[in-house]
Amino acid sequence: MSTAQTTTACIRVAVTSAPADLFDYLPPVPGGPVVPCAGMRVLVPFGRGRRVGMITSVAATSALPPDRLKRIDALLDRTPLLTDGDLRFVLWAARYYQCSPAEALFSAIPARLRRPEPVLDPAAPGWRATAAGATLAMADLQRAPRQRDALGLLRSQPAGLEDGMLRQRLGDCSAALRALASKGLVARCRIAADAGNGPSASAPNAEHPPPKSAQASDQAPNQDTGPELNTEQQQAVDIIAQQSGFGCFLLDGVTGSGKTEVYLRLIEGALAQGRQVLVLVPEIGLTPQLRERFARRIAAPMAVLHSALGERERELAWQQAASGRARLVLGTRSAIFTPMPALGLLIVDEEHDASLKQQDGFRYSARDLAVRRGQLADSPVVLGSATPSLETLFNAREGRYRRLALTRRAGQAADPDIQLVDIRGQYLETGLSHALLTHMDQQIEAGNQVLLFLNRRGFSPVLTCHDCGWVSECNHCDARMTLHRGRDQLLCHHCGLTQPRPLRCPCCESPDLRPLGQGTERVEDTLRKRFAGVPLARIDRDSTRRKGELERLLAAAQRGDYRILLGTQMLAKGHHLPAITLVGIMDIDFGLYGTDFRAAERMAQLLIQVAGRAGRADRPGTVLVQTRHPQHPMLERLLRQGYGSFAEAALAERAAAALPPFSHQALLRADSPKAQAALEFLRQVLVTARPLAPPSVEFWGPAPAQMERRAGRVRAQLLLQAPRRSQLQGLLATLLPRLRALPAPRHVRWSIDVDPRDLY
Ligand code: ADP
Ligand code: ZN
Ligand code: ZN
Repeated sequence: MSTAQTTTACIRVAVTSAPADLFDYLPPVPGGPVVPCAGMRVLVPFGRGRRVGMITSVAATSALPPDRLKRIDALLDRTPLLTDGDLRFVLWAARYYQCSPAEALFSAIPARLRRPEPVLDPAAPGWRATAAGATLAMADLQRAPRQRDALGLLRSQPAGLEDGMLRQRLGDCSAALRALASKGLVARCRIAADAGNGPSASAPNAEHPPPKSAQASDQAPNQDTGPELNTEQQQAVDIIAQQSGFGCFLLDGVTGSGKTEVYLRLIEGALAQGRQVLVLVPEIGLTPQLRERFARRIAAPMAVLHSALGERERELAWQQAASGRARLVLGTRSAIFTPMPALGLLIVDEEHDASLKQQDGFRYSARDLAVRRGQLADSPVVLGSATPSLETLFNAREGRYRRLALTRRAGQAADPDIQLVDIRGQYLETGLSHALLTHMDQQIEAGNQVLLFLNRRGFSPVLTCHDCGWVSECNHCDARMTLHRGRDQLLCHHCGLTQPRPLRCPCCESPDLRPLGQGTERVEDTLRKRFAGVPLARIDRDSTRRKGELERLLAAAQRGDYRILLGTQMLAKGHHLPAITLVGIMDIDFGLYGTDFRAAERMAQLLIQVAGRAGRADRPGTVLVQTRHPQHPMLERLLRQGYGSFAEAALAERAAAALPPFSHQALLRADSPKAQAALEFLRQVLVTARPLAPPSVEFWGPAPAQMERRAGRVRAQLLLQAPRRSQLQGLLATLLPRLRALPAPRHVRWSIDVDPRDLY
């Protein structure tokens, strides 16, 4: 072996779409200007093709002889995208959730960078008006309308406009711009990403709001200082602010108790110490309302990261955070991976929310990762909720988290009064009881707003034939197709299959087809007749499909344009609608006897969150909950004694059954178009796993999934449960590599979900 080879470093790469391991490569042909470092992307030969990968480490030697190693084709980055600390965090998450390092790493960076493309230059090329162009009499361009438009637009934007923006406003105007340039009226320039569309774009309060914004916004002229905190809020702020280094806090505050105010004070404090702050919110929680509230209060540059951003916007926001320029990052689930060199505080709002868990691919919990990241960054972590998850309450009870309570609503608002409406034997008008309708009459009469909650969209959950009993079943799922009258279709909510609405029964040709049960469309129908002339908005996934529609409806609701709001769980979260005095929950029973052991917890959270929309300002609120099980012990307890007491009882049940958080689970799911194949595969998994597992690990199944057939695939699952996390992790670490090495079962797809939220 030559000396040249002993000094040759071996570079370990996580390769996209490759098996779960890391692969060793030789550095690219020497003499390049950039030294390969961990955190840089590379292009490598793999199999018969080339793949993008990321360097995870540079080692002195490989277990493989150098002549077996291939050479990296190219380095794609000049500087690492992720620091060593970032890499450590993401690779830890990959190990914990049993995901391949490459999949985890490439989920942690902007989507565009999964392709072999260079990182965006945040300064994009553009045009600006020159001094001569700024003072030219526009009449001089009368005979050149395209030039006149282009110059006019650039004159209104003294900082210039980037090419893309010009194209978007004017179409292809490059000839006009070249002509203007030849007359010295416009000039080429670079436009920094955070310059927005001109000087006004950076101030959130200015006349032109920033374009829905990924970019950091600079200090606003009039920062709002917020209300004076009450004692409980102040106490929470003081205790958390004293924490130096890692510590996890549960901010357990009833809806409207001013949790967000507490976050804002903590953020101000951390920013004043030169730290960056990461705030995670659930998907539906990141409304323009919330963004504006933060922008109004926080003077420092902020980056907002959510799934509706375009790739470019997202990447620029990511860069702002990674460079340290954005001091505050406000984002949904995936923002947990945003590199932040000065991270000093993490906040997870609505920590119980399901959308904080990724449900496919890299199935991580952003909440749990926030705690881990806080540990690695040696920073405090705040989990906030009015309805904390049982896991988090348990951690607080065990002393791992410190619980801080906000027991009263902030300001003038009083707690809502929650009442059960026993609908057994009652006449219901499209699911609405007489009691509920009467209350609605009164509140509408009094000039107040009413919110009705029904977690089922569409017109009716099933269409049936009155003559032969046919029901609208999905061909690909063990489920019924929902009738959507607005689009005149049957739609499967599980696989997305649509069919035109049949006019006759497919079985017996009878024209007497009847919708059974109700969804929001049908209730809307009834309400529009019953409350003719009362402005009503339906808010669900169908009515808000158009971009910006949800924001528009919510803003109008807040202005009081609507008197009745009818919606699904899109209405349950965080929105502050001060004029609502009555909340009607049409159907809560689904949660009482659900098969999933978390059904009751979810029901309670939803109920309390929806109820929390009532009476948030000076007008008191009432909540009516329709049920056929008014004596259900969990429901009674929840309403009489509150969520905390409910949670205690629910935890006691979990303890008795040794269910999480008193044990730890991982779920292996498999599916196949062939009837027995998934089940067969999981039987084989069980045979492999048993001998590897300590005796305390329990196996449940394999068994068919609750909805066995979905989208044409037959599904099965195997649940692994262990008293200790470490036992489960130990088993998975040895089991998963063996499963991946098993001869690939034909047509069977499988996945592993660590700490699953849903057991179907
Ligand atoms: P949460 O996040 O717990 O739902 P918010 O922080 O949104 O509560 O507060 C609810 C409302 O009460 C907001 O309008 C907020 O401005 C107001 N508020 C919060 N704290 C106070 C306070 N100490 N005094 C007066 N009003 C407050
Ligand atoms: Zn029929
Ligand atoms: Zn289907």
